[in-house]
Amino acid sequence: MKKSDLSNIKIVAATGNRHKIEEIEAITALFGMNVITKEEAGVGSLEVEETGITFEENSRLKAEAIMQATGMPAIADDSGLMVEALGGEPGVYSARFAGEGASDEENNEKLLGLMKNVSDDKRKAKFVSVITLCYPGGEVLTARGECPGVINRAPLGTNGFGYDPLFVPDGFEKTYAQLTAEEKNGISHRANALRELKKQLSDV
Ligand code: IMP
Repeated sequence: MKKSDLSNIKIVAATGNRHKIEEIEAITALFGMNVITKEEAGVGSLEVEETGITFEENSRLKAEAIMQATGMPAIADDSGLMVEALGGEPGVYSARFAGEGASDEENNEKLLGLMKNVSDDKRKAKFVSVITLCYPGGEVLTARGECPGVINRAPLGTNGFGYDPLFVPDGFEKTYAQLTAEEKNGISHRANALRELKKQLSDV
């Protein structure tokens, strides 16, 4: 299968997170990539355990498992928030920062609590996304995207998901959750990773 021949192949997104899928679909559509959900590929109930300790490991675990289960090329995003004052936490544990099965609100509350006494000049953070594309033939492409910013002192905005209400990307005076989907998808860590992936595919 020719890697650059994207418009003719369907790629399965290895995530059950509705928000991630919406973002991945919106961004990849601009590249002419045809991304379908796990449900559409018939493997909706397949959950992959994230046992890795890096974004790269977890991203690959998910993409590989879905590729093997479907026999189709599969794309996976593993992402998270790295906060400088917390030594890079929550990082790969972003989804379960406040415990297994924690809600976005619980995670945000924990983060705000830990950042309570951190001064304005020490509130730097970045979102990271690592996207892996696994082909049935065994080929693997990996792309990393980041978005720098700061952690706000209170949640603001209702768009998006996860830590969006607390994250103010550099160059903006609004949180990710106050941006429109188009604005977020123009600058986000996930968009930057997908742009990098597209670049690698175009180089083929
Ligand atoms: P994953 O499913 O293990 O990749 O978990 C990613 C977690 O990181 C999510 O559950 C969110 O808590 C956080 N995260 C990743 N991307 C974003 C984003 O775009 N906005 C807000 N939170 C995000």
